[in-house]
Amino acid sequence: MSGEKTIFKKIIDGEIPADIIYEDDLCLAFNDVNPQAPVHVLVIPKQEIPSMAHLQDSDQALAGHLLLTVGKLAKQLGLDSGYRTIVNTGKEGGQSVDHLHLHLLGGRSLHWPPG
Ligand code: AMP
Repeated sequence: MSGEKTIFKKIIDGEIPADIIYEDDLCLAFNDVNPQAPVHVLVIPKQEIPSMAHLQDSDQALAGHLLLTVGKLAKQLGLDSGYRTIVNTGKEGGQSVDHLHLHLLGGRSLHWPPG
């Protein structure tokens, strides 16, 4: 990728702080700076993938790992009554940071449909 680093890439590179709750070789999870629920965690790949629309067949294992990580974190965080996983994609999808991220929201009753 060319151009300026995204804010999430700066977090991966340790250039700006984040409230990191989990890390492994492939991904990082940290608390969202503007939480929309009592639990609002972002799970991101360390690899620079701009959005879900940029995932390739070769990313299958990574994509699965991200989903499994969300599930494991939800369990660890005690979200036994349920939670929501959101991947905003592109302008109309409401994506504001061009680095793939999975939102994990929980700890309150969530409404549907979203806006
Ligand atoms: P989206 O709108 O789906 O692209 O989500 C981007 C999310 O990143 C928003 O929920 C922001 O609150 C969150 N965010 C932006 N900057 C930071 C940061 N430095 N640390 C943690 N979360 C952030």
